[in-house]
Amino acid sequence: MIETIFSRLHEIYPEMVHFRRDLHMYPEISFQEVNTPKKIADYLKGLGVEVKTGVGGRGVLGILKGGKPGKTVALRADFDALPIQDEKEVDYKSRIPGVMHACGHDLHTAALLGVATVLSEVKDDISGTIVFLHQFAEELTPGGAKPMIEDGCLDGVDVIYGAHVMSTMPVGEIGVGEGYMSTAADEFEIEIFGKGGHGSQPHLTVDPLVLGCQVVLNLQQIVSRRIDPLKSAVVTVGSIHSGQAPNVIPDSVKITGTVRTFEEDVRDLIEETIGQMVKSTCDSAGATFEYKYLRDAPSMYNDATETNRVEAMAKLVFDEEQVKRVPPMMGSEDFSYYQKEVPGMYFFVGGGNPAIKATYPHHHPKFDVDESAMLTIGKVFIATVLNYLSDGVIKPSFK
Ligand code: MN
Repeated sequence: MIETIFSRLHEIYPEMVHFRRDLHMYPEISFQEVNTPKKIADYLKGLGVEVKTGVGGRGVLGILKGGKPGKTVALRADFDALPIQDEKEVDYKSRIPGVMHACGHDLHTAALLGVATVLSEVKDDISGTIVFLHQFAEELTPGGAKPMIEDGCLDGVDVIYGAHVMSTMPVGEIGVGEGYMSTAADEFEIEIFGKGGHGSQPHLTVDPLVLGCQVVLNLQQIVSRRIDPLKSAVVTVGSIHSGQAPNVIPDSVKITGTVRTFEEDVRDLIEETIGQMVKSTCDSAGATFEYKYLRDAPSMYNDATETNRVEAMAKLVFDEEQVKRVPPMMGSEDFSYYQKEVPGMYFFVGGGNPAIKATYPHHHPKFDVDESAMLTIGKVFIATVLNYLSDGVIKPSFK
């Protein structure tokens, strides 16, 4: 069964390339996607699958019901672009000034539509339901995952899989990891209000600048003194602004920074501790403050069973050496919201290829990837979904 489906995937590959390049030429940035979801919905309707649009705002769901009863699997692809000027020299370069698919989300979308095409052709043989989850606004916080979940995109879903193409990994490679796979990337803003005055008369002022400097130094103790050494976290102050003149004590100081964590309890502890440190520093000097802690997506957590399934399927479809265990990434990805609801697995697929100048990092003006990564994503998705829905019975039987 899988062998036939794979050869169909190869047959429709030019269609996938065509779809990807169309999205690449006409990218739309997060929360401004209008034509992209329409193109996706139209394509899915053409396959005869049930389509829901406007999910959580701009999301699109394709729901493929198999001929036999069974569980429900979701496959997720994001479709937003970035506010970056495309500087590549290819004929499918972005036609929209200042907007570009510089993270490969165009390719994720086309790969998922390819999977939807070939699976819809064999739906009578499928036990269960497959949800093609096309997500808007992954690049911004808060992104599209949360509103899509609130709008019911995971209703009835038992498991979810997602993938990201990586220009930094050679094409053909597949990276899998279990447990925490990305960090929560939160931000904080602290404003301390003192009482300004003449630089020659500090005793008549409450100097917020000195307090701000104390806060910055105190924050360095959170990771070193408060976090379990077996766990990890980053607390970085990225900006501190105050004052204008050498002989004036300013009224206020503003500090901003970023926090990266894996575990929720570490995250909660850091949010609380920053607040305590700011409060005690300000209280000691009679200053007041405002403190805001802004939460981004939580960290991704790959389910152990599903990680093993994806890894095993990838090793059956490709050479074992192509499938590697990879460490977590220190970035954030709102796929994590789905994983809070149902077991999920997010893997990485190589798209780097010096022969076609696909060597630039993500979000670079010359970013590109080898399009054959769509076949890799597609094959891993197909084998994994069929294996899951058949309780491990269906697996690729070739090499
Ligand atoms: Mn991305």
